[in-house]
Parts: sequence; C-alpha cells; structure tokens
Amino acid sequence: MAFWPSIVVATPAHSGVGATLTYRSELSLAPGGLVRVPLGSREVLGVVWDCPDAPPEGLTEARTKSVAGVLDGLPPLNANWRQLVKFSAQYYQRSLGEVALAALPPQLRELDNTQLARRLKKRAKAGTAGPATPGKLNGHDLSDEQAEALQALAAASAPVLLFGATGSGKTEVYLRATQAVLETPVSDGESPTQVLVMVPEINLTPQLEARFRERFEPGFGTGSVVCLHSGMTPAQRLSSWLAAHTGSARIVLGTRMAIFASLPGLRLIVVDEEHDPSYKSQEGARYSARDLAVYRAKVESEALAIEGTGLHAGPHPNPLPEGEGTGAGEGVNTPRCQVVLGSATPSLESWHAADQGRYLRLSMPGRIGGGMLPRLRLVDMNHQPKGAVLAPPLLAAMSERIERGEQCLVLLNRRGYAPVLACHDCGWKSGCPHCSAYRVFHKLDRTLRCHHCGFTERVPRACPDCGNLDIAPVGRGTEQIEEQLAGLLADVKRPDGQPARVARMDADSTRLKGSLEVQLAALHSGEVDVLVGTQMIAKGHDFRRITLVAGINADSALFASDYRAPERLFALLMQAAGRAGRDAEQSGASEMWIQTWYPQHPLFATLKKHDYPAFAAEQLSEREQAGMPPYGFQALLRADARTQQAAQAFLNIAAGQAAGLPHRDDITLYPAVPLTIQRVANVERAQMLVETHSRGALQRFLSAWQPVLHGCRSAPEARGLVRWAVDVDPLSI
Ligand code: ADP
Ligand code: ZN
Ligand code: ZN
Repeated sequence: MAFWPSIVVATPAHSGVGATLTYRSELSLAPGGLVRVPLGSREVLGVVWDCPDAPPEGLTEARTKSVAGVLDGLPPLNANWRQLVKFSAQYYQRSLGEVALAALPPQLRELDNTQLARRLKKRAKAGTAGPATPGKLNGHDLSDEQAEALQALAAASAPVLLFGATGSGKTEVYLRATQAVLETPVSDGESPTQVLVMVPEINLTPQLEARFRERFEPGFGTGSVVCLHSGMTPAQRLSSWLAAHTGSARIVLGTRMAIFASLPGLRLIVVDEEHDPSYKSQEGARYSARDLAVYRAKVESEALAIEGTGLHAGPHPNPLPEGEGTGAGEGVNTPRCQVVLGSATPSLESWHAADQGRYLRLSMPGRIGGGMLPRLRLVDMNHQPKGAVLAPPLLAAMSERIERGEQCLVLLNRRGYAPVLACHDCGWKSGCPHCSAYRVFHKLDRTLRCHHCGFTERVPRACPDCGNLDIAPVGRGTEQIEEQLAGLLADVKRPDGQPARVARMDADSTRLKGSLEVQLAALHSGEVDVLVGTQMIAKGHDFRRITLVAGINADSALFASDYRAPERLFALLMQAAGRAGRDAEQSGASEMWIQTWYPQHPLFATLKKHDYPAFAAEQLSEREQAGMPPYGFQALLRADARTQQAAQAFLNIAAGQAAGLPHRDDITLYPAVPLTIQRVANVERAQMLVETHSRGALQRFLSAWQPVLHGCRSAPEARGLVRWAVDVDPLSI
C-alpha cells in the first residue's frame, strides 16, 4: 500500500510553489514528523503536514517522487505547533514552508538519523533533569502587590497584562508563576509542563537568565533551563531546541524567535517588556512574537480543554490576536496555557485590549521596598550658555552624585562621534555613495561608516571635493559625549579619592563577544561612575547604585512624523528613568534629567507625574479620531527596485489590479511613496500603506491580493524590481 503525504519544505515566499508538495511513501507518516525529500536536484528537510492513503486528484502518480528518509528519532511536531505555524503564515502573508522551516533550528536540515541519535544521546546526558525537590525554591517574600497579582493571575482566563512600575518586582512574579506551572503534576505519558519566557534582547539581561537558573536548576536539574536566541551557535540552538521538543527543558528563555519553539507541555508564556519593538521581526515573515504569544496560548488552552473532556481536537478556527480571551475560563483547575505580557509602559495595543476587557490588567504601581520613582528635572536649553552640550546645572548634579559614590546614566540615541562630517568651505558632507544617508564619523577608529549599508572608509585628511583641510564633525554621538564628559568631570573625585570614570555602552562598544557582560559588570561593581549609551542602557537592567539618569537629546522624537514616535519616546524616557533609584533607600533623591528646547511640551508634564495611564488615554483618543491602530488596521506593501520609478510602478500596478478583490471597498490604498531613507545599498525603496477599520477585511483582502502581487512582478513597468513584501501590523510607516 502507498501513501501520499503532503510535505512542507522551505520555499521562499515568492517562489510560487504551492503550500505543500505531495510525495509518495510506503509507510504511513505521522503529521508533524520530519522527513528528507528530493526537491529539484537536492534533498531537503520537510515536515509532514498530512498523510492520506489516496493520491490527491489530478496527481500524476508516475511522476511523484518518493520520500527519501524519515527522521524517526524525534517525536512529531504536535498539532498546536503546526497550527501556530499555519496561522503565522496566513496572517503575515508568507508561505507555509518558509515559516515552518524557519521555525526549526538550521542544523536540523543537515542531520541524518545516526547524527540525530548522537545529538539526542548527548542532550540526554547533559540535561539529566532530576526530580523536583520542592522547598529548594526560595525567592523573596512577596510584596502585597506581588501576592495580589499572583493570586489574580492564578484565576485569570484571559491574557494578563502585568502593568508594573519599573522596580516593582515583575521578575519575581514571573518566577513564581513559572514555579507554579513546573510543580503542576501531570498524568503518566503526558509531557512535563513547560514555560516560555521571552525577553527583547537576552544579552542585555544576563541577570534574568541567572535568576531563572538559580531558582530552578537546583530542583529541576541543570538542563531544565535553556536559552534560544540568534546569538547562539547552530549547535547550541539545536541542542536547546531538542531539549524543548523532547520535554527535558522545562523553561525556555529566548528572544522573539523562541515563540516558534516546539514545547509539547507549554502552560505559560511570559513576554517581558512587551512594548519592545524588537518583538516584531523586520525580515522574512514580519511576525510579532508578542501577538503570536497571545494566539499560541489560546490554541494551547483550547487543546488542553478538549483533551480534558476526552473529545478530539478538531481543526482550529482562525481566531486573530484580537480574539476574545483564551476561552478556557473553567476556573483555576482547568489545565490551560496562560500568557502574561509585562511592562511599565505597555504598548497601546495591549493597553487598549485591557481597556476593552479582552486582557486582564494587573497593576503593581509601587516599587519594591516603598522606593520612589525619580523626580523629573527639565533643563530648558533656551536658557543655557550658547553651544553647551551638557547644561551646567546637569553637570553640577552629576558631580555631586559621583562625589557621594553614586552613579549616573547618560542617554543619547545616536552612536558614533558625530552623525555627519562636513566641509565648511564647499559644503561637502559625508554622504554614503550607496544610500541616501550620511555616513557617521567614528573617531576611535577614524572611519566614516554607513549605518544602513555598512560601507566604511577611513576618514579623509582633507575635503574630497575642494581639498580644504578643515573638515569638522556636525552634531553629536555617544563617542563624543563620552569624550566630553571625561574632560568635564576630570576634576571630580569619587569617595575613594580616585578621579571619576566615564564609560560608554552601545552597539559599537559591545560588538565583541563577552564585552557587554564586562561592561555591565563594571557598572554593577561600581568601577564606572558615569555610563553613556544608547537605548541599550535603558532596558530592563537592575542597576542598584544609579541615582541620576539624563536624556540629553530627546527633542527630535517630539516632532517626528511617525505617529508612534510619542509612544516610543515616552516609553524610552520612562524606562530610562526606571533605572534610577532602584535601591529604595536612595530612591527619594533619584532624578531623571531631560535637556529640551521645548519644556512646555505636554508629553513632559505627563512624564513628570509618571502617569502612563493618562498618557495612554490621551494617545488612544488621538488614534481613535484618526482611525489609527489599534482602532484601524494597517499593512504595508513594500517594494525594492533598481530605480524608484520601478518600485513605485510595481506598487501602483498592484493597486490598480486590486480592483474587484474582496473587501476592496473597505480598504484604503494610499499613493506609493519613497521611504524616508529612499536608497539603501543602491536599492531604491518605496511603499504603499494599506488601511482599513476591520482586521478581518484586511486579512481577506491581503490573501486575495497575494497571487495578484506575484503576477505584477512581471509587468514591464516593474522591470528592475528586486523584491517585494507585505508587512502586516507594521511598527513604523
Ligand atoms: P521590574 O522588572 O519590575 O523593574 P525587578 O523584577 O527587576 O523589577 O525587581 C526589582 C528589584 O527588587 C530586584 O533587585 C529584585 O531582586 C527585588 N525584589 C523583587 N521582589 C522583591 C521582594 N518581594 N522583596 C524584596 N526584593 C524584591
Ligand atoms: Zn570642501
Ligand atoms: Zn550606505
């Protein structure tokens, strides 16, 4: 007897290959199983999607190739995982194969059965997850707010939005919730319970990983906590993935990619700092790991509820991230998968969902130990000496802190020494020949570097256009502030009599492996007094001795054209402020300084009160009036081409051919426009905004548009088109 499995293989989104390919097999294959199949002249990894015993209609049996091999050492990927992948592909308008194979560790593609068996054996040895020894799990005594939040969480049936001030102890809530899940008994043959904890950038928060290991490894074994992120080697990724898939890992700590980990016993998903833009992928399938977390928890809960009743899981409907709760509302004892989104500055999407009652908002407004949030000090730059980069009162305040043995953070969202190098004689500027952008002057290695395409050259001695020797930096980056502060604070002494020490932390200073850890350690140990850095320094860190944080150039974001700019700026400043005064004893005197030319701007008044709810309410009402997300729904059609003309032509043709598609009347297609940075690496970029008031309409329209878009590629006007992509729920437009 023969079978005709439909197999999912890695097909690029636009290759035109159908969702699944049919092969022939002598054996019945379990859906979710991994196989090797011939594709063209190669043999590739595939996932079995279905395995009927009759060939699909119209199939030429004689020409159907056979499955080459089965990776039978692994249990199949379960139905919930497959549903997550299928939903992601549909929702984000990509091919099933692209999403499914991208969700698997790359090294899996290269292994045969023998190699796989070896890895599994090695894995099993490494992670001898011992039996739980309760009692070893000890953390802090919970604060009242933490205890209340945990109680409410235990009873919650909807996704939970944990709105906790910076320093309110959200991590301890995650740890306790995790503990409760891990200690949940399961019946024989069932997968051990598992927890997925997602963070924006794992390298930035080595503390969090340490806390989870410390808390759970003694009781659950050394292999019980694994990490999954793109900074790992392929071998490490495979090892973590296998541990999660086989159930030997009980906790997966990871970045956005971890949302696709195979976790057969998944019972809790934590999304820490859920407002962070890095949860949205900017390449391939442009998924939001935060939104998928909500969806995944819902799918897992429904499956658990059905298992509980002994019914068979039918096909899942297509509930969107805005769906109504997790469905499993049977009370505390119903097995279910919970999702917790945590932040001191939640995304407006999540905030709105909580306003509507779709999410359960749990608030922890107070800091641990009764500490206070830092006082906001605005420096009116109109009243400072001309040309002062750092206002004298700010410098004085910093000096005082240093003399008392306290530390300061200085935030500037621009790395390098200066954003532009210019000739004052002829007007030459350090433009990038390949991009419509300036190259940034990096003084330390004397280079001009393009932050968009990477093009790097040594700084010229003289103006390349007129030969003038006097070319000078314009504007300031972190390198320059570090240099200036070192000079300005040269005479300031720490309590131990040593001169003040200034350091810098940004993408440049942390490029080398391990350097970030070294820099963080220097701050924690008190070796460094002032840390200058980009938004990297504002994220999640639990610094104990910082009492002053300064934002020295926030103004550009006040008037940015992107409607999300205020949300991002508010979150950044509030998170940055949150790094100060985390030690309750010093919190009363902690301050957040902001240098601005617009001290009357209403954003600062709200920030002064640390009033995120007021800020959110005001922003949401503006968005409602304008029909912007979360009240409206958007997608971008993006095109890259050799010429701007071709890129726009593709978009315009696509718009023209959208006539008559389902829901076309509910959709606004805006004119094609070049991107703000129009050319990158010699490719011209354009986009078209797609907007509507209904997510369902947007989804159905985009699905119908997809084949049309494939067709538009070959239009003569679009000659020179390099690539195109749809970005659903884009973060910036
Ligand atoms: P958040 O993530 O909300 O900003 P953290 O989870 O980093 O805050 O907690 C802030 C600090 O408070 C950490 O140093 C943590 O160890 C400590 N902490 C948390 N909960 C408690 C508690 N119940 N008692 C004492 N200290 C706590
Ligand atoms: Zn010149
Ligand atoms: Zn460039």
